[in-house]
Amino acid sequence: MTHFFDALILGGGAAGLMCAIEAGKRGRRVAVLEHADRLGKKILISGGGRCNFTNLHCRPENFLSSNPHFAKSALARYTPADFIALVEKHGIPYHEKTLGQLFCDRSARDILAMLEAECQRAGVSIFQNTKIQKVERTTEFVAHAAAAEFRGAALVIATGGLSIPKIGATSFGYDLARKFGIAIREPWPGLVPLVLSAEDCSRYCDLAGVSAEVIASCDGQNFREKMLITHRGLSGPVILQISSYWKKPQPILIDLAPEREVTAAFRDPSTPRNAGTLRGELRKFLPQRLADRWLDTYTPTSWTNQALADLEKQLHAWTIWPADTEGYEKAEVTAGGIDTDELSAKTMESRKVPGLFFIGEVVDVTGHLGGFNFQWAWASGAAAGRAL
Ligand SMILES: Cc1cc2nc3c(=O)[nH]c(=O)nc-3n(C[C@H](O)[C@H](O)[C@H](O)COP(=O)(O)OP(=O)(O)OC[C@H]3O[C@@H](n4cnc5c(N)ncnc54)[C@H](O)[C@@H]3O)c2cc1C
Repeated sequence: MTHFFDALILGGGAAGLMCAIEAGKRGRRVAVLEHADRLGKKILISGGGRCNFTNLHCRPENFLSSNPHFAKSALARYTPADFIALVEKHGIPYHEKTLGQLFCDRSARDILAMLEAECQRAGVSIFQNTKIQKVERTTEFVAHAAAAEFRGAALVIATGGLSIPKIGATSFGYDLARKFGIAIREPWPGLVPLVLSAEDCSRYCDLAGVSAEVIASCDGQNFREKMLITHRGLSGPVILQISSYWKKPQPILIDLAPEREVTAAFRDPSTPRNAGTLRGELRKFLPQRLADRWLDTYTPTSWTNQALADLEKQLHAWTIWPADTEGYEKAEVTAGGIDTDELSAKTMESRKVPGLFFIGEVVDVTGHLGGFNFQWAWASGAAAGRAL
């Protein structure tokens, strides 16, 4: 059986659905082809089930890409305010959690239901359980599924990245790009916990569950948020953020005492210069178990001014050499992807293959933690949807 549409959208996630809505509203006959048994599975698990659907302070600086300017156009033409207006039109209750991050009060299901309702209103045809095995380009694009083929003048790839394969992530988008000779920036797992070396793990991992506010830096970037020790390494928002910038074998520097001078107390000549005093000072801002463990590991060998200065430096630049990340199984996003040089920043259309578009996470634009990845999915989806 052959189905004819103006545009075929592969992938019924955040970007694909937004693209379909925008194109459908403009009268295009659009099909969303989704291989899973339901749409938007990632939306449902996002933000701990409450979907951090955007960020009030969304700026181009909140994204990684080999071309930092690429995302600007789409982000400017579909803003957090545009998505919030849609959320409010559907009467979905939401709140700001922290740092401009907007979450549903009730459940991520509200966001998916909203997108589905908008698709329906825009006359979008949805095909679930539809795995596309092959795509050909004749005078139009032909997408072959097991029991049907779909034809359309435009093809939008919205199949996402490699993160969380158990809910349907595939390499389809990258494979298809290669087939059409479109360059890819080698993908890597982003927003992902880090695994410590066996030696560091034996030192710290029994403190699993302990957290502290720190500054983590790597590759010229730094973030100040909570760090969490896990059974295998480090996690928490600050580590997820910096992980997107980390590549083996770089070190990550952790400032355990942001904006504090821990050894200041020793300037007072009446303060005893010993481990007891230092322990007390560390415990003022670090959880007790972490303070004690750090001191046991880095006990000063002398108490001279120089030794104290060295210690102060070490506290602000605790250097760790992660063994690895937890990989795509645990990564919230896939960094890298379709090279932005291949795409129009205005429409997301391939420069080499007219009619072929790439949107969302499959593109080499990756947001920081905090609702930015969905904002990119909405913005890039809208950009393509308006061009179809
Ligand atoms: C646990 C978790 C929590 C997250 N929380 C947040 C958050 O709160 N805020 C935020 O901004 N971001 C969050 N993210 C990131 C965000 O979910 C993604 O960046 C976003 O969903 C990307 O949208 P997308 O449409 O590009 O891809 P996806 O949402 O992954 O959608 C791709 C779709 O394509 C389908 N597909 C794949 N291959 C094929 C194929 N061959 N044929 C047909 N269909 C196919 C998939 O089944 C999927 O439905 C989270 C991610 C994870 C894993």
